[in-house]
Amino acid sequence: MSRRDDIREKALKDLQQHEVLMLNGHFDFGNGYHGRVYLNPHQLFRHPSTIWRFGQDLLDVLPASIVEETEVVAGPVMGGALLAHTIAGLLDSRRAITRPQTIFAPFSVDPDCGHTLSRFYQKQVLGRNVLLVDDVRNTGQTLTRCAALVREGGGSVIATAEIYDRMEAMMDAGVPNYALAEYKAPENYAAAECPMCKDGTPIAAF
Ligand SMILES: [Zn+2]
Repeated sequence: MSRRDDIREKALKDLQQHEVLMLNGHFDFGNGYHGRVYLNPHQLFRHPSTIWRFGQDLLDVLPASIVEETEVVAGPVMGGALLAHTIAGLLDSRRAITRPQTIFAPFSVDPDCGHTLSRFYQKQVLGRNVLLVDDVRNTGQTLTRCAALVREGGGSVIATAEIYDRMEAMMDAGVPNYALAEYKAPENYAAAECPMCKDGTPIAAF
């Protein structure tokens, strides 16, 4: 097994240890559905040192060329932006001090179109290589939208990356994607048909 595989396997365990990812439980999602897997990205950020550690691991699974070429790290508010800020700082700690510092750019939430990039940050991405990051990849729609915003701003998206990929992406941003950890949750059940309820398994707290 390669070193990258080792890091990724350990990350999946670490996510469970930090209660970001809870497997083999019985969860009531409050929307009429029950399931065995619960994902809580807030646990990544509750203690800053947690996201610094996962950020280091994410950098370790990225190809060296991506790490080398990245000039801006951008991510959508909230989790993606916190991760982007962390990754941008960590990149500088791995590079020659004489190099220009890595730039951070957040995408703000826009009630009409999902996300937006302010004029100030459009200027930051102009003519630069951008690594797009998010804490979790769901359908891929957010990263695809953010990639379009970077391109509109005159930046070049070189890759997308996330801590955790739910493996349910239906859209990609047209560049390579790298996940630190990935896990496809089994199907959820309508509460009335939930086999765990039928077994009498107590509902887990989260
Ligand atoms: Zn149930």
